[in-house]
Amino acid sequence: MNAGVLIVGSGMAGVSLARELRKLDANIGITLISADAGGFYSKPNLSNALAAGKSVEQLMMTQRDALAAQLKMQIHSDVQVTAIDAQSATVATSIGDFEYQHLVLALGARPIRLSLAGDGAEDVLSVNHLDHYAEFRRALGGKSDGKKRVAILGAGLIGCEFANDLRHGGFEVEVFDLAPQALGRLLPTHAAAFFQQRMENAGVKFHFNTGIAHVEKSAHHYRLTDNHGASHNADIVLSAIGLIPETALAKASGLPVNRGIVVNGHLQVNAGKDQAPIYALGDCTEVGGLNLPFILPIMAQARAMAKTLAGTLTELHYAAMPIVVKTPACPTVVCPPPQGSNGVWQEEVGADGVRAFFVGADAKPLGFALLGSATTERQALAAQMPAWL
Ligand SMILES: Cc1cc2nc3c(=O)[nH]c(=O)nc-3n(C[C@H](O)[C@H](O)[C@H](O)COP(=O)(O)OP(=O)(O)OC[C@H]3O[C@@H](n4cnc5c(N)ncnc54)[C@H](O)[C@@H]3O)c2cc1C
Repeated sequence: MNAGVLIVGSGMAGVSLARELRKLDANIGITLISADAGGFYSKPNLSNALAAGKSVEQLMMTQRDALAAQLKMQIHSDVQVTAIDAQSATVATSIGDFEYQHLVLALGARPIRLSLAGDGAEDVLSVNHLDHYAEFRRALGGKSDGKKRVAILGAGLIGCEFANDLRHGGFEVEVFDLAPQALGRLLPTHAAAFFQQRMENAGVKFHFNTGIAHVEKSAHHYRLTDNHGASHNADIVLSAIGLIPETALAKASGLPVNRGIVVNGHLQVNAGKDQAPIYALGDCTEVGGLNLPFILPIMAQARAMAKTLAGTLTELHYAAMPIVVKTPACPTVVCPPPQGSNGVWQEEVGADGVRAFFVGADAKPLGFALLGSATTERQALAAQMPAWL
């Protein structure tokens, strides 16, 4: 089988690229291979689906066949790509080999698994896919199942979003993190304290400086033991400690891999070689030393790559891109400073919100965090921040 542009992965990255490319070229051949069902859903919706009143079925926005028809492309779903031969421009899959003129890797990331002891460790769930979310919703059960207590491992963005959503759904939520505060990679100290207070007002219980080491099953629940020796009971345990880019296929195929699959400013992996080009985008990708597992960077990548594939070599640029934390208990927007910036946080804490700026040596703000009522300033401030790439 010969595909013109062969995209591997039907997440936000693979599908956004197909959309952008189709806008620019009505005729270019696009084939998409995906290890999953090949439909389109918006992954950010998974961590606020309870509050939004969405069932798993409602989260799937476009089924595979409709997506294929919409974008005039072939989709091979439930197909695993097992090897890439860059010399012969061929990928091996579970249904045979595919040749390509342009190969795009949009392989995503997978949840980091904690090494936990105990016979309940295998039951710990993580959510990075609609199928995982379906499993999580099954585990939560109906109101009559009596499952009320959820332990979340990790107080980062995804852990906090699930905590808020589960409280909205009427669950008791305890969040554990080895760090001394919530959103440790994003927020400075006072902003984090404000965030914690608002989340606690909504009923979320945090355990900081606390890691879970053991998960044991008992007849009706799980017993978690933390690094201080204390135990906690939960009906469901959700791990949200982070994601790791999916690089195994690229590495095994001899492509350059660091944290993510390493690409140049044109998002190309094998630049300069006498081979059909291979590109990467999305959570699996590292460009300019940056692996940014968020939607706005993916959209910027998809637009730039589509132009290149349509014939105009286009370099990727990142403006500053604020991250919205979907915690209605404490609306939060963070625009981190460019990677490697030197500076200090300056925080103004009010009764209804926090404005915090990451300020460089010349007193210029390089990043910000806005909480509560201050989030209204997000757009105006984002426009003033330095570009990331
Ligand atoms: C719960 C949650 C909430 C989030 N909320 C936000 C938010 O509010 N804002 C924000 O900006 N970001 C958010 N994110 C991050 C954002 O959703 C991701 O950055 C984005 O969806 C990643 O898309 P992707 O296409 O790169 O990867 P994925 O969605 O992981 O897609 C990878 C695809 O590759 C396929 N694949 C992998 N290996 C193979 C193979 N060998 N053969 C064939 N197919 C393969 C998979 O089947 C899948 O189709 C959230 C993430 C999560 C988990």
